[in-house]
Amino acid sequence: MSGYYLENFGCRATQADAAAVQLGLEARGLRPVAAEEADLVVVNTCTVTASADSQARQAIRAFHRKNPRARIVVCGCYAQRAPEELAEIEGVSWVVGNAHQAEIATIACGEGSVTHAEDLVAIAPLGAAHSAGRARSASEGYEAGILTGGLADFREVLVGPVEPGLGGHTRPTLKIQDGCNHRCAYCVIPQVRGRSRSLAPEEVVAEIRRLVGIGAREVVLSGINLGGYGRDLAPRLSLGDLIEEILARTAIERLRLSSLEPMHLTADLVDRMASNDRIAPHFHIPLQSGSDRILHAMHRWYRAEHYARRIEWIHQRIPDAAIGADAIAGFPGETDADHRATLDLVARLPFSYLHVFSFSARPGTEAARLGGAVSQERIRARARELRALGAEKAAAFRARQAGRVLRALTLQTIRDGATDALTANYLTVGVPGVWKPNLWLNLRLRQREDGSLAADPVEVAA
Ligand code: SF4
Repeated sequence: MSGYYLENFGCRATQADAAAVQLGLEARGLRPVAAEEADLVVVNTCTVTASADSQARQAIRAFHRKNPRARIVVCGCYAQRAPEELAEIEGVSWVVGNAHQAEIATIACGEGSVTHAEDLVAIAPLGAAHSAGRARSASEGYEAGILTGGLADFREVLVGPVEPGLGGHTRPTLKIQDGCNHRCAYCVIPQVRGRSRSLAPEEVVAEIRRLVGIGAREVVLSGINLGGYGRDLAPRLSLGDLIEEILARTAIERLRLSSLEPMHLTADLVDRMASNDRIAPHFHIPLQSGSDRILHAMHRWYRAEHYARRIEWIHQRIPDAAIGADAIAGFPGETDADHRATLDLVARLPFSYLHVFSFSARPGTEAARLGGAVSQERIRARARELRALGAEKAAAFRARQAGRVLRALTLQTIRDGATDALTANYLTVGVPGVWKPNLWLNLRLRQREDGSLAADPVEVAA
């Protein structure tokens, strides 16, 4: 076996998982090739919404049609949640859960046996005979093995930073935390990712030094519940402490944090971020709803005013910070008044962008068992309204930033003769001409007629 193709779906954490799988495959001499030529296709799935599931199934079928001789290994969160569903798709050889991603290379290369044979889930989806965890489908004679056990006791964080230059990324993502101990009513993630666990600070520092050594200038720290970093470590550590340690012991030029739950956003963390320009002033704080009644039903642990206070802190301390949020439209029982409360809160707060999700019931979650389903038509209409408001907030933020001179890092995307660059406060701006990725430019921002931002170099920093 010599060529592999890896398709990744989902969030920054899954990108980091995919990168770790990739490292394992390449350590065994496999090289990346086009899907049509691959001996092995790895599909790393997401299951956060029903449409993520359906995209993964479609992709697997398409890979099998394009290249029927490739072995297909399906991994990631959907694989963990519903392995049988995936094992039944023609062409799938293995379905591997989140506690076993480190074994994908071994499995794919057919070397020896898996380390935790007790975690093999022996299934015969269509009633066919099976042995040692491998099931033969009754339909066409293909086989699928399922390896998804062991998640409850799994305590590792798979390290595989998305390296600079890989998959169109200039800024590597380093996953430093995995899993979640909360049980938000709509969320399937704790079921498929296990309990919260953190990468030891020594390993974080070593990885960042390694990334800096190969040219990284900005590193994004990610996790499933990033703000919970360090609570499982002995001695216990906070995310703020870890950041201090990274800044003191590595030469990373800019750190960026991915999403933080509102209760993890402490005044101390905001102060640390405000006082050091090596930390990008960019906060992504999931809101989900502006209605206290719905937040309670979702088992979110804050109320609208607690959330608002935290956003106001950020804005007072760092007025030009990027502040983004997630909102869910159409949670069961959401009335027009609840939706209006979300719109009013979003309108009032200084957001620079909003990610809107249409509610979709995930099997096994509490929300899937709740009554009061909102009609699809109404969910779509509410999501549209929220997106329109989010677009207005983003446009107003861009307009406020026009005229400023900001330092930005050039990215790999070139569009209409301009190279994209990213500012610390998360604005993507087009710089005329073709620039190498990973350069600092000092840019004067200007707004184009369509509202997007362009920028002219004032100075090439390095
Ligand atoms: S905090 Fe809530 S929404 Fe986030 S991963 Fe945990 S359970 Fe899911």
